[in-house]
Amino acid sequence: MICPHCRGKKVNIVFVDYSDGTGELAKRICPTCQGAGVVTEQQAAQIDAGRALQADRRARGLTLAQEAARLGISPAELSAAELGHRTLDEVLSRKERFAVLDID
Ligand SMILES: [Zn+2]
Repeated sequence: MICPHCRGKKVNIVFVDYSDGTGELAKRICPTCQGAGVVTEQQAAQIDAGRALQADRRARGLTLAQEAARLGISPAELSAAELGHRTLDEVLSRKERFAVLDID
């Protein structure tokens, strides 16, 4: 099915912030479909789940950083789950794997 992030265009327009008060718009290969323009039904379901996750977090008035801290994961990991790049289960199981490895 058509990629919901790039709508089949295979690229996304992003603002590149140079952190000096300037920046520019640039085309980037869509990270969701890797430039294919289409996603599998499984990916589409994962993207829907990510959007639901984000909507739920926003409904509770939490920022990405606050929710990530609550879950004990990094904001980048939560973002990946909300964008549908990974499932929340994958992110949380990674966390548990690393927690097991976290020996002093
Ligand atoms: Zn795409």
